[in-house]
Order: sequence, then structure tokens, then C-alpha cells
Amino acid sequence: MVDKTINVTLTKDKKEKPAAEKLEFGKVFTDHMFIMDYIEGKGWHDSRIVPYQSITLDPASIVFHYGQTVFEGLKAYVTEDGEARLFRPDKNMQRLNRSNERMCIPHIDEDLALNAINELVSIEKEWIPTAPGTSLYIRPFIISTEAYLGVAPSKSYQFLVILSPVGAYYKEGINPVKIAVEDNFVRTVKGGTGEAKTAGNYASSLKAQELVADKGYAQVLWLDGVDKKYIEEVGSMNVFFKINGEVVTPALNGSILEGVTRNSVIRLLNHWDIPVAERKISMEEVHQAYKNGLLEEAFGAGTAAVISPIGELSWQGEQLIINDRKTGNVSKRLYDTLTGIQYGTVEDSFGWIDVVK
Ligand SMILES: *Cc1c(COP(=O)(O)O)cnc(C)c1O
Repeated sequence: MVDKTINVTLTKDKKEKPAAEKLEFGKVFTDHMFIMDYIEGKGWHDSRIVPYQSITLDPASIVFHYGQTVFEGLKAYVTEDGEARLFRPDKNMQRLNRSNERMCIPHIDEDLALNAINELVSIEKEWIPTAPGTSLYIRPFIISTEAYLGVAPSKSYQFLVILSPVGAYYKEGINPVKIAVEDNFVRTVKGGTGEAKTAGNYASSLKAQELVADKGYAQVLWLDGVDKKYIEEVGSMNVFFKINGEVVTPALNGSILEGVTRNSVIRLLNHWDIPVAERKISMEEVHQAYKNGLLEEAFGAGTAAVISPIGELSWQGEQLIINDRKTGNVSKRLYDTLTGIQYGTVEDSFGWIDVVK
């Protein structure tokens, strides 16, 4: 029997909350955090909400050396009436367990984790910023804590949830970005860890990102790790192209991370009777569509930006200018609908919202 009680210790000195216009991404953390331990033989235990604090780990902890760790990312939003809500958090917990599976980390009880997130957000409700476009970012993660330098799954872990108030992603309105198609570095390959949200994928993407940032690009477009031909993702977002009336996104193939936003976009497009296909799509095909005047829109999709229109793709020395560098109609409609559902101005007809009590 899993013990589902969460012990709560409240802080005695609350921090000052930053002004809405000063908010950035992921730099300020709230007053409390959730933590739970795992030891082989005993399982997950001692779930608790405590004042936000440093954690102490043995320098030999497996997480520092071999990166056995997973994370998630979702947000809490507040409506005009002051209701705190989460967007499809069950999807994040399911994905956390899929990542756990790949990384040999013991499964967590998804209901317990959802309760923990709800209770933590409820305690920190005043930390959810109210200015338009702002939100409270939720970062659940699991680290391997056994002190052992052998390459083997850890026998002990910690699951933590921390919260960070974040500013509006688009401060001057939704804005198309410049993207460089990456044909040297790859993010991952089929059989690798691309479909898990695990630290190493992000560490290995830094170099490509750093090189293109110097040339004024916001992100890289990743191609498949075998032929460097087929499109995978854009930065840490899933990617969509609208070609001749049909929206196409790369099919899940073992190296692509399955986004909650990606899934929501596909559901909305289906609902609107806009043709959408999950299939292999090559950069060659996108280029051909561009030359034929059929590349109508391109956009990234992920929790942070929701929808990030692509205004320019740089590939093999050529600049593909998409929709005159303007946000396309489908991109705009998706953005408005998803954020509307999140902030409570559009009806949640899919049952995607969890109200925090
Ligand atoms: C988190 C993530 C996404 C987007 O997932 P969402 O659930 O929509 O936020 C896409 N690609 C990568 C590599 C990611 O890490």
C-alpha cells in the first residue's frame, strides 16, 4: 500500500515576489517545494512539502556522473476570477513515467504526483502572476542519488517539484523567429534517448544552439540523426508545417519527444476539420513546397511559447522566408485558442483543465 499523505511544513519567512514586468524565465523560485525519496526495497516514501531549500548530495551521486535523471515542464495559470488551473497535467505525469522507463528510474504513482503538484500550487497560489501572458512554471524532476561510480541504475532517488513565476513569452505580441536548419550536429537518434525528457539530450544540444545564436538565429531545426534528411524538432519544441492547406508534423519515431502541446494542436486541427498528418517529412520536401509557393506556415509548439511561428528557415546557404515573416492564420488561431483555454477566456470543451483547489 502506497502511503499518499503529504506532510506539509510551511516557511516562516516568505520571500518578496518580483514585479510582473521584471519576470524572466526560471530564475526566481517560490517559498516551498515538494520532495519524496526512493530507496530500493522500500519504494517511494516520505512525501512532503517543505520550505524551498538547497539539497545536500554525496559528490559520488550517480546523477552528477552519468546523468540518470528525468524532468517535466508544465504551467499553472490564473483566470480573471482568480481561479488557479493546470493544463493537462496528467499527460505530463504519464510522460514522466515513460521517461523513467527509458532511464531505468522506478515509476512514480501518477495520482500521488498530481496531488503533490495540486497541493504545492495551492499553497503557492499567490505566486501565480496575474499580468497577461504570465504563469507559474512547474518543474517536476527525479535525480539518482546513490553514491556509486559504477555505471548502473541507482538504488536511491529523489523526486522534487519546484515552481518559478515566469514572464510573458511574447512581450510585444506573438513574433515569428529565424531558425537555422542544423546539418552538422544531431539531437538524438532512434534507439537513443530522444523520446525521454532527460538531461543529456539538452546538454548535447547546447553546442549547436550556441553556434547559431551567434549568427542571430533563435533556435536550430533538428534533422534525423541517420540521414540528416528528415525533420525532427525545432529547439526543444515539436514542429509543424502547413503545405498547400495540410498541416504536417513529423511522426513519432523514437527520437522525437512527444509534446503535450503537439498532441493538443493535432486535436484542435482535427476538431476544426483542418487536414493534419503525422508522417516523415524531409527538408527537401519543405524546400520544394517553398519553391512552388505552397509552404504557407511553419511553427514550433511547446509549453513555454505555446506556438512559435517560424518566419525564416536557413538551409544550405538559402533563406526560406515563410508567410512574409508574418504569423499565419492557423498559427494565430492555435495560439489564441490554446492560451484562451489556459487562461479561461475560451471554453474548455476538451476537458483539458484541472482546477487547483
Ligand atoms: C518538452 C519538450 C517538447 C514540448 O513538449 P510540451 O509537452 O508540449 O511542452 C518538445 N521537444 C522537446 C525536446 C522537449 O523537451
